[in-house]
Amino acid sequence: MILIIGAGLSGLLTGLRLKQAGIPFKILEARNRIGGRVNTLYKSNSAPIEMGATWFHPQHRNLISLLEELGVTYFEQHKDNTVFYQKSDIHPTQIVQVPEQPPSYRIYGGTSNLLNQLFERLDKNSVLMNQPVTRINSYESTIQIVARETFEATTVVLALPPKLWANKIMFQPALPDALLRIAESTHTWMEDSIKIGLSYDEPFWQQDKIPATLYSNSGPITELYDHSNAEKSSYALCGFMNPSLKTLSYIDRRERVTKQLKTVFGEKALAFTNYEECIWSTEEHTGFDTSNFLYPHQNNGNAIFKSTLFNDKLLISSSESASEFPGYMDGAVYAGNAIAEKLIKLVKKAP
Ligand SMILES: Cc1cc2nc3c(=O)[nH]c(=O)nc-3n(C[C@H](O)[C@H](O)[C@H](O)COP(=O)(O)OP(=O)(O)OC[C@H]3O[C@@H](n4cnc5c(N)ncnc54)[C@H](O)[C@@H]3O)c2cc1C
Repeated sequence: MILIIGAGLSGLLTGLRLKQAGIPFKILEARNRIGGRVNTLYKSNSAPIEMGATWFHPQHRNLISLLEELGVTYFEQHKDNTVFYQKSDIHPTQIVQVPEQPPSYRIYGGTSNLLNQLFERLDKNSVLMNQPVTRINSYESTIQIVARETFEATTVVLALPPKLWANKIMFQPALPDALLRIAESTHTWMEDSIKIGLSYDEPFWQQDKIPATLYSNSGPITELYDHSNAEKSSYALCGFMNPSLKTLSYIDRRERVTKQLKTVFGEKALAFTNYEECIWSTEEHTGFDTSNFLYPHQNNGNAIFKSTLFNDKLLISSSESASEFPGYMDGAVYAGNAIAEKLIKLVKKAP
């Protein structure tokens, strides 16, 4: 039996490829939901709100091929070239023109639609939730995985960010030093970000003919975009907050957001029907705080992640391991496919 640790995009896709090849597997997921860094919130009377991965680009061919294979459609992100800009605390808010930007796309029905499509194609009992893996013990011909329960496998796939397994899973025997050092200093893409989403009954920005896009150096919101659904029938704004505001209380952050919305967009922006935020660095199964500074994408796609360990019993996946677009959804799809290919070869080679 193959065990995949993590039911994010990479782990679920590896699962689907194994199912298609008729190879048995199970996925162990620490959270009580699938998706990992993909998490679309579906609230009544609101456009789907993305707390995690949202946009992709035409060069993300691995992701686009998967969407086409699964029949999941996508649509172009609405972009304004006229935007609100807050240069600093002491400058008044300006309306400025930004250069024409290349198109970016969003998944129809929200990014979780893709994850749900993958999940629905698997047998329901192949994904086990609430199973945070804490130990992996390798023996002569088997490998033991300790989570809430203990499992035995022939092969294990680490479909979670390297920084997490390096810091939170005990390996017996210990992993090679060189691999551990790299994994500990591999940036988990977007783990430091705070996402914010606001739902509205009316698209006040369209009615008032003002920009929906905001770029701000003063914050708390640093970027905000039109997040209405594909049909433009339900409305939202979504973007990022300054990560340092994670130390404030929820009430303080929300108050500061309200003040900024009023200053930039005016009174109507306060009529949001729903306020959502996600501080990814405090998400136990994504963020991991270390004292050493990592620059964005540091060690992403490092060739060391191609190693197989414990006599081919342990394989490394997740977007951060990918050779193409590591850190992004495209990288997760690349890794999910590449690891499945490796596993299928290993199974065929086995006596
Ligand atoms: C705020 C934010 C915005 C983003 N925006 C974009 C974007 O616009 N475009 C883009 O392309 N990408 C974006 N990304 C990145 C994208 O989300 C990731 O590349 C992709 O989802 C990674 O998938 P994955 O399967 O490799 O890892 P993950 O999604 O991290 O999945 C790992 C899984 O492992 C589980 N897990 C963790 N620890 C354990 C354990 N000990 N035991 C068992 N399970 C465990 C986790 O719960 C999780 O489900 C964004 C990410 C974030 C956080």
